[in-house]
Amino acid sequence: MAAPLRIICYHPDGVVADRAMARAIARIHQLNAVFNDYDPTSEVRRLCETAGTGKKVQVSDDLWRLLALSLKISEQTSGAFDVTIGPIVRLWRRARMSREMPPAWRFDQARQAVGYQWVRLYPEERAVELLRSGMRLDFGAVAKGYAIDAALQVMREEGVPSALIDLGGDLGLGDPPPDRHHWTVAVAAVKPGEPPSYFVRRARCGVATSGDRYRFVVIGGKRYSHIVDPRTGVGLTDQSEVTVIAPNATLADALATAVSVLGPEKGLAWVETFPDTAALYLRLVGDHTEVHTSKRWKELSGETADAQL
Ligand code: AMP
Ligand code: MG
Repeated sequence: MAAPLRIICYHPDGVVADRAMARAIARIHQLNAVFNDYDPTSEVRRLCETAGTGKKVQVSDDLWRLLALSLKISEQTSGAFDVTIGPIVRLWRRARMSREMPPAWRFDQARQAVGYQWVRLYPEERAVELLRSGMRLDFGAVAKGYAIDAALQVMREEGVPSALIDLGGDLGLGDPPPDRHHWTVAVAAVKPGEPPSYFVRRARCGVATSGDRYRFVVIGGKRYSHIVDPRTGVGLTDQSEVTVIAPNATLADALATAVSVLGPEKGLAWVETFPDTAALYLRLVGDHTEVHTSKRWKELSGETADAQL
């Protein structure tokens, strides 16, 4: 989770606030040791080393919970979101460095090792087996949200419920600042240099944005996102930005990535099946920003809330 972290919190006693933040940060570090894909000693990486060996591995509560949720999302999206996307994401990471399109046979090879249906869960033992060799789980689409929720929970337990946690642009909103009804969050415009025109005025929820603003590669004049369509193995080429408001940051993070792949029609209809959840889908088409919203976006973004508060 190599993403900048920002915590804003309010408490009359600075010592209490500092202690709460220190513990929240420690919790995020702990989760990094579980989910970090760049660290060969992380729990996820060690699990992936057993792929295809017939071994089942007992995993931590955090890994179990986030894997179970990710598999559910993978099933519901028929694999548009796929937590086993790791081998393809690795190919694109290399492409970002070399600025060259990987050869087709490499995509074919990577795709052999991708498929959420090749993950077997043993609930009684909290154990996981990865059935195909070369499989690699990738929690890049959900781990930030999960870490935010875990950190907000620590802040609450430490007596500092009025907090906002921003991890690389994904947000967890706790109780609002004193004398306020909500936090105010601006949704960045998809067109570079344009001021934001959408705002979220809420408390106690998660707000996550997915897009290719920072992580993309241009090959042969085409721009490919770090979010890939598992069905083709190719990075998304539409310049979109999806913002999801959900009861927690984990779900918001997962859905923002999934809707990026599903596109506005399928994606927003699916978002509407989750309670208290809404999405905004912005897409840059030439010079024009196309806007799609799910039915409850206006209501759940607090568009009607008093802008002064
Ligand atoms: P986010 O910034 O939350 O949208 O997550 C993007 C990250 O999710 C990428 O950098 C990959 O690690 C991972 N990812 C890319 N494509 C997919 C996909 N189709 N399903 C699940 N995870 C993905
Ligand atoms: Mg995400």
